Amino acid sequence: MTDPGAVEVDLLVVGGGKAGKSLAMDRATAGWSVVMVERDKIGGTCINVACIPTKALVGSARTLLSARHAAQMGIVVSEPTVNLDLLRHHKASVVDGMVTAHEEMFTRSGMDFVLGTARFVSPRTVDITAADGRSRRVRGRDVVINTGTTPAVPDLPGIADARVWTSESILRLERIPTTLAIVGGGYIGCEFASMFATFGSRVTLLHSGSRLLTREDPEVAAAMAELLAEQGVDVRLGARAAGVHRSEGKGDVVVAVEGGSDLNVQEVRVATGRAPVTHASWSDFRVLRENLTGGDAVTTGRLVPYTVFTTPELARIDMTETEARARGHQVKMARLAAGAIPRSTTLHDDIGRWMAVVDADTDLILGAALFGHDAGEVISAVQMAMLGGVRYQQVRDAVITHPTMGEGLNLLFDTLDHR
Ligand SMILES: Cc1cc2nc3c(=O)[nH]c(=O)nc-3n(C[C@H](O)[C@H](O)[C@H](O)COP(=O)(O)OP(=O)(O)OC[C@H]3O[C@@H](n4cnc5c(N)ncnc54)[C@H](O)[C@@H]3O)c2cc1C
Repeated sequence: MTDPGAVEVDLLVVGGGKAGKSLAMDRATAGWSVVMVERDKIGGTCINVACIPTKALVGSARTLLSARHAAQMGIVVSEPTVNLDLLRHHKASVVDGMVTAHEEMFTRSGMDFVLGTARFVSPRTVDITAADGRSRRVRGRDVVINTGTTPAVPDLPGIADARVWTSESILRLERIPTTLAIVGGGYIGCEFASMFATFGSRVTLLHSGSRLLTREDPEVAAAMAELLAEQGVDVRLGARAAGVHRSEGKGDVVVAVEGGSDLNVQEVRVATGRAPVTHASWSDFRVLRENLTGGDAVTTGRLVPYTVFTTPELARIDMTETEARARGHQVKMARLAAGAIPRSTTLHDDIGRWMAVVDADTDLILGAALFGHDAGEVISAVQMAMLGGVRYQQVRDAVITHPTMGEGLNLLFDTLDHR
């Protein structure tokens, strides 16, 4: 049924996340009439308040660490410090540059990009209230909803008035607090703990579970806890926040911990929601494009690696040892200390360990957890081997550039045969 008040378009995209914006640009370039509505973040969450600004700041934390250890590399620098104005400027320049680039790409594609909020009023039809107050009704022959996620604030007594930081508000960088409590020891909690500890905050990480990164193998989670502790983070496992309030006058925050003593800190950052299953959004775009143009693609069976950007980073792909055994695989475990890789010696960066899960019957790689310098880059090579059905012996025996962290894959799989 058509709505006489609605503008009809070939494609209506609600929410300009990675899949939505990529599809909108692709179809507009192909000649379709496209309207894309985005509430307030040109380019989506990733660019404005998630992956890009956080990794820009992780880069700053790593620069600080490198400067602190410069003498070890034969370089003398004076005491490095964080300059909050420059830090904000660095983050803003990265984000603003990408937002501007997106605006230009949207315009070039020929789509009708509307900054505003969309609300469904009937099937495939939305009312759009634009940022300038004007409204219009649009109906799409095809409609894609890509409205993403927002930070989940846990339902703790007092939290609504305690002005806690979420993943979005912390990025405003109002200050580097002397003391910071992070509630939640998942991927994002660990990233922020590592970053702020490097910036100089005394960080307490409260995690209600018995280990960090609950979905990882216990030994990987333990390695992460060890790393954070070495960076000065007070990691408290089995510690559930039971309430939060900002004390009058001082402006500091008190976190009540179930069964434990209260924690007094300058700021609290909650990291209890919003899982990083994410960059899959771009893969979603390819699936949608295929299906909107007559194909039959699916989102199941994808190999989706991910990286926790602590310093060093933890890169993961597919099955953990626990999962592989639970699924009935006979497994062989390859394990290597990151410090055994020659490149890490050249960098004086020997923190971390690598693990790979191999099917003992087929010699195929089932998964890997690489914790160490540049692990997020090396995991792509493991992913290619897995996509290509390459047996571990082929990776073990491949001639890899020396000295690189990737060369560690030779050494990792060599440990399986103890040659
Ligand atoms: C702190 C942090 C760090 C992260 N780091 C990484 C990382 O390093 N690597 C990684 O892969 N992932 C990371 N992620 C996750 C990743 O950023 C997100 O999961 C990803 O951007 C989600 O993409 P999306 O396309 O699903 O939606 P989004 O990018 O969230 O897009 C949805 C858009 O829809 C808009 N919208 C919502 N409702 C409406 C409406 N009614 N009308 C109009 N518009 C609307 C929103 O404003 C938003 O811009 C991180 C997340 C966080 C929070």
